[in-house]
Amino acid sequence: MEASGWASQALKDAKPDVFWWDRPDAPPVAAPLHESVNADLTVIGGGFTGLWAAIQALEEQPGLTVVVLEAERCGFGASSRNGGFCDSSLTHGLENGLSHWPDDLSTLVRMGRENLDAIDVAIDQHGIVADYHRAAEIDVATEPWHLESLLESHTTHAQYDFAVELLDGDSMRSRVHSPTYLGGLLRRSDMALVDPGRLSWGLRRAAESLGATIFEHTPARAISVNGTKVDVTTPGGTVRSERVLMATNAYPGPVRRPRRYVIPVYDHVLMTEPLSSEQMSSIGWNERDGIGDASNQFHYYRLTEDDRILWGGWDATYHFNNGLDPRHDQQDTTHGVLAKHFFETFPQLEGLRFTHRWGGPIATTTQFTATWGTTHKGRLTWVAGYTGLGVAASRFGARVGLDLAFGATTERTELEMVRKKPFPFPPEPLRWAGVQITRKAIQTSDSRDGKRGLWLRLLDRFGVGFDS
Ligand SMILES: Cc1cc2nc3c(=O)[nH]c(=O)nc-3n(C[C@H](O)[C@H](O)[C@H](O)COP(=O)(O)OP(=O)(O)OC[C@H]3O[C@@H](n4cnc5c(N)ncnc54)[C@H](O)[C@@H]3O)c2cc1C
Repeated sequence: MEASGWASQALKDAKPDVFWWDRPDAPPVAAPLHESVNADLTVIGGGFTGLWAAIQALEEQPGLTVVVLEAERCGFGASSRNGGFCDSSLTHGLENGLSHWPDDLSTLVRMGRENLDAIDVAIDQHGIVADYHRAAEIDVATEPWHLESLLESHTTHAQYDFAVELLDGDSMRSRVHSPTYLGGLLRRSDMALVDPGRLSWGLRRAAESLGATIFEHTPARAISVNGTKVDVTTPGGTVRSERVLMATNAYPGPVRRPRRYVIPVYDHVLMTEPLSSEQMSSIGWNERDGIGDASNQFHYYRLTEDDRILWGGWDATYHFNNGLDPRHDQQDTTHGVLAKHFFETFPQLEGLRFTHRWGGPIATTTQFTATWGTTHKGRLTWVAGYTGLGVAASRFGARVGLDLAFGATTERTELEMVRKKPFPFPPEPLRWAGVQITRKAIQTSDSRDGKRGLWLRLLDRFGVGFDS
């Protein structure tokens, strides 16, 4: 049987559910808001950004009254669905940072490292058990043209003091046994891996232990200014507060402004059953690095604590008019292609089954990084748009959001990335058409040894793009 045959067998019984949340240790549901309350700070959205905002606000200003409103359960969005790659980069990778903010890049790299160090400390201080550990990451070359881009990337990373090493084909294949590997760029620094489901549960507990009040199943529906205060209306009651931080990322939330700059893009993931010790020996991977391949349309994959392989990425789908729907989580074609690629990469795992398949919305901007803004006379601050690298960056996004919400001028708020908005997406139907043309152009570029056609070169010229 070929890879596609094994893939459909392996997917047959996969549960259409997020593995990281399909566990018995979820915290109890927090009661929804059913009265009107007052607060100093209202946070809308209980993903990583919203929870880090509550935690950092309370650590800096103990005694502050902080209310978190979450439409579903804390972590329901991208925060529980991701690959758990917790990268220090605030700029969706060093190269993307260099292309947009060359003057600020050293500062951004330093801030990213400080942010990751602060996550280490917070995990420890709050006793969060989420399989969080520093890990190396490898960009693997699976096509000859990747080797040149890894060489360039090595030079760039070395300039910014990352601990990087180029691996030739033999070294790469002896580290992780795949016949598709032609080489790799190993980065030993500035990266961690985490179980994102347990991280979202742990951050929720930490926020509560510091004094935040969390309301789940409480969607914020409307915002209005009331004198010096802002009212956030939910189905069961209103929260009146001095300031609001909206952290709904790919989800629209009650304020429309971010929709010009941020669009939801679905990314999909598979999780295998635990590998036996023989299967583990057949793939090597003793260092348990996080791995991504070097194509524009890339896969990311890693081992879990119990020796499963999480395998995700490759295709990123946009649905007309910023479409969001739980049905988009399950895409037979995308999951099928992902499964086929899995067995092409690890043919020795023939017979291994996938236990879970899911997807979720990534919020992307034309610069692939978070963007911030304020509305309602400066009383509401929003942050969104980390693209596929928000696990660590969301803590920084929240930190900047708090600076803006409390009117503080800091080194962070002076960054060009914070001060200037990305190029907006055009309105529909141009938005949908533009994304489809760009996706097609990216696929073509990958099939032409990475050569960028006219459309991608035009976008590069304007400093805009589409990624996951
Ligand atoms: C499949 C996938 C894989 C990914 N892999 C990685 C990875 O390996 N590494 C990495 O760094 N990043 C990854 N990301 C991106 C990363 O997960 C996100 O950038 C990050 O989790 C964003 O956190 P957030 O809190 O801003 O958004 P979210 O986690 O989406 O949280 C937003 C919250 O707001 C709530 N909400 C929405 N509307 C309302 C409302 N009106 N009222 C109240 N609440 C509301 C939602 O229910 C949700 O809980 C991935 C994302 C996906 C989808």
